[in-house]
Amino acid sequence: MSKKALSLQPLSSWTGVQRPFIISGPCSAETEDQLLTTAKQIAATGKAHALRAGIWKPRTRPGQYEGCGDVGLNWLVRARQETGLPITTEVANGAHVEACLKAGLDFLWVGARTTVNPFSVQEVADALKGVDIPVLVKNPINPDVELWLGALERLNRAGITKMAAIHRGFSSFEKGPFRNAPMWDLAIELKTRVPELDIICDPSHISGNRELIGMVSQKALDLDMAGLMIESHLNPDAAWSDAKQQVTPSALAKIIDGLAVRTQSSENKVFKDTLSVLRDQIDQLDDEIMQRMASRMKISEKIGTYKKENNVTILQVNRWDEIVQTRVSMARAMGLDEGFMRDLLRLVHHESIQIQTRIMNKVEEKV
Ligand code: PEP
Ligand code: MN
Repeated sequence: MSKKALSLQPLSSWTGVQRPFIISGPCSAETEDQLLTTAKQIAATGKAHALRAGIWKPRTRPGQYEGCGDVGLNWLVRARQETGLPITTEVANGAHVEACLKAGLDFLWVGARTTVNPFSVQEVADALKGVDIPVLVKNPINPDVELWLGALERLNRAGITKMAAIHRGFSSFEKGPFRNAPMWDLAIELKTRVPELDIICDPSHISGNRELIGMVSQKALDLDMAGLMIESHLNPDAAWSDAKQQVTPSALAKIIDGLAVRTQSSENKVFKDTLSVLRDQIDQLDDEIMQRMASRMKISEKIGTYKKENNVTILQVNRWDEIVQTRVSMARAMGLDEGFMRDLLRLVHHESIQIQTRIMNKVEEKV
């Protein structure tokens, strides 16, 4: 399979907006009045660059509000006329795309429940062949960077070059503080694989409640994300979908005002010199850590040979417990995060077991 990078135009080139690009609007378009009033309030804050509203809503369980359908496109067009904000909605199949193109939407997004299905993404891509419209692609609901990238590739092959990804978190059986676990590492992995791809964060669907939105937004900006998609509603508690995570347009303005937008780099000479000294120190320490790690693994090899000679098992649960306990309390005393230390020890232990397993199972070469 070809690993060719995507052919992309940067977000700022087609939005005309310097980071962060802010998209806001209700989870769902409910009535014309609800959408227009919300849109006008958002525009009045001056904090958003585009208006979102779901017209066709992919609901996890039936019996919930599934969207107003095509009529909502007319409401979006009116909202654009009255506010000047570019308009966008979610598309999940070819018919949605056709309706949006006919109505003249400014850009589209593919939702998490669609990205997960290559057949649906291909259908959307086929409907977009030969059309020059920007498309944002949400991460799939499951933590799979390949699927996310695959959806971007399908659209790109159909000729869409004005693209960005949206990070909206991942479904998980374990319930943490978030509705969808952010798993920031996956967004970082996507960015590492396609550095020229802009990623927008959707803190609303990550958080699932309005209290966490500011914190998640700040974290996204600090990870150099290019924008935010935040759900807002004139009366969030009365929203027909995602009520808990929507904010009023004035709360949106407060969130945006509270964000520190840090730049990726600084031309300031003192900053650059100081950073370079600190990075040298990191390089030096990484070097030491790696040398120490290599020495540690050499001892694991010796232990493996010794255990083999004495017919003793590789895993010694008591010893492992003792290692974790002593190291974790040491880490605590040194101001290191306990979870981080446990993860690190698990990796080291895993590797040590691998090394010993290889030794145990090595067939002696006959001379
Ligand atoms: C939405 O944006 O309202 C939505 C349905 O999001 P997601 O695809 O992230 O669940
Ligand atoms: Mn929603």
